[in-house]
Amino acid sequence: MEQTQYDTIIIGGGHNGLATAGYLAKEGLKVLVLERLDRVGGAVVSEELTPGFTVPYCSYVLHILQGRVIDDLELREHGLDIIPFVSFRLDPFPDGRYILTHREHHKNAEELRKFSEHDARAYPDWANFWERASGLLHRYWFREPPTLAQVSEDIRGTSDEEVWETMLTVSMRDLIDRHFQDPTVKAHFIDAQDAGDPSAPGSILSLAYLRVNQFTKPENYGIPRGGMSQLAFAMARSAEARGVEVRLNVRVDKVIVEDGEAKGVRLSNGEEIRSFMVVSNADPKRTYGSLVDPSDLDEATSKKVKGLTTRANCVKLLAALKERPDFSRYLGPGYDPRLGAYFRICPSVDYYQQSWDDAKNGLPSSCPVMNVQIPSIYDSSLAPPGHHVLSAWTLYAPTHLKEGSWETEGPRVGEQLIDLLSEYLPNFRESIIDWTLQTPQDIETREFMTDGSIRHIDITSRQIFTGRMPYRSPINRLYLCGSGTHPGGEITGVPGHNAARAILKDLEKVAV
Ligand SMILES: Cc1cc2nc3c(=O)[nH]c(=O)nc-3n(C[C@H](O)[C@H](O)[C@H](O)COP(=O)(O)OP(=O)(O)OC[C@H]3O[C@@H](n4cnc5c(N)ncnc54)[C@H](O)[C@@H]3O)c2cc1C
Repeated sequence: MEQTQYDTIIIGGGHNGLATAGYLAKEGLKVLVLERLDRVGGAVVSEELTPGFTVPYCSYVLHILQGRVIDDLELREHGLDIIPFVSFRLDPFPDGRYILTHREHHKNAEELRKFSEHDARAYPDWANFWERASGLLHRYWFREPPTLAQVSEDIRGTSDEEVWETMLTVSMRDLIDRHFQDPTVKAHFIDAQDAGDPSAPGSILSLAYLRVNQFTKPENYGIPRGGMSQLAFAMARSAEARGVEVRLNVRVDKVIVEDGEAKGVRLSNGEEIRSFMVVSNADPKRTYGSLVDPSDLDEATSKKVKGLTTRANCVKLLAALKERPDFSRYLGPGYDPRLGAYFRICPSVDYYQQSWDDAKNGLPSSCPVMNVQIPSIYDSSLAPPGHHVLSAWTLYAPTHLKEGSWETEGPRVGEQLIDLLSEYLPNFRESIIDWTLQTPQDIETREFMTDGSIRHIDITSRQIFTGRMPYRSPINRLYLCGSGTHPGGEITGVPGHNAARAILKDLEKVAV
């Protein structure tokens, strides 16, 4: 390698940037991470909402952080302590009934029997479908991405062929109708994630990406003790122990490109830092839209970036509470509070559909699908004694409203969500000490995620595998390592791992 101050500069100290840094430093590279904020972690962040109340401003659960990454980066040795969950999810319904699911399949069929004998009997087939569907995606996670055609070729003639075809051609709504009869059971299973529209083919594939969480070991599924930032801090400590330098409060304005090669970065204060290569943890739209001059891009990349979608967005309600939300209407007196620590509000399939249809039409959702967590039930360090914090990741929300702006609509939507939660939890409104609503625009401003897209770009059938952006950019020695690359968003550490591997592979060629 040429003599420069650093072998690698990584733009951004999100969890994937830190993972790439750790993997490269392990192989002896001199790495500098430049983070614009005063903390590492990107969307892996917990901060005080009001003194004494620590809330997860963005991500709120570790469910697909890969065990291999935890072990390779020795995150537990560097302070990561994951508190595992005892159940999967509680779905309360307006009529007072509920469905409580676990990660162990055998318990779930029994739960469905309360609603329908038919649906209880259909459940094993449903669970088997998802195990195979998510397994089809997961097997490619720690590899360079295949094309959809290659995956189809790999699967041809195997017993997975039918599952794969279903993933590509059938909608969630249809799949649910094929399995279940009871409307409440159907409401429990409806989910389309980044596909948005549960009636569209491809919605199964979007969800299958997240259902990879069924392969996560129980000890890796939960929340970091002390708040989400503790994961980021453990990653930074691990990287620093390997010699990585992390600089905070420094924003990169441009990647310096000379003779078609990345040679370093220019900071917003005008300072230039030179390196042998540059890796961007920023999302692809930001990387190619502002960090790099359009003239340095080839036509194919410019076209691909222009076509990337960042539509399946959310709002997030955060609240500090003086008491625990009361689930006794559902779970009876003296219930185990941990069973109510994660719940979802989605009373029907049509409700979910409306949530997407509203957002698609530029409206705040009239039917918000709320994924609600009360992390302080598991981790009492997040709030003063007897007090709690609540986070509600809520689908869907347009980045730009058709009428008005999030500045004016945000407070109204926040009140709407509080009213909705109060219908299920009678003591909720009264218990609020403080709250805030994070809109797509807040997420973009705080986290630099374009359009507030939490996985950098949507995870859809068009934007999976090679449909995401490659680790290797069209500019020599400029790489991408964030969620916009394969396999995608969420806290996994895999894009960071794979980007490092691609870089190390290329360096072998340089050495030769
Ligand atoms: C509201 C919300 C809820 C979520 N819930 C979950 C969840 O419960 N579980 C889960 O697994 N995932 C969840 N996610 C998704 C997950 O958090 C992200 O997909 C993931 O953290 C992205 O990691 P990353 O390292 O790829 O990128 P990021 O976290 O976006 O990190 C990129 C970093 O680069 C920095 N940066 C960007 N540009 C520059 C620049 N020019 N100069 C210097 N620094 C720069 C940014 O400040 C940031 O720190 C959620 C995300 C959000 C927003």
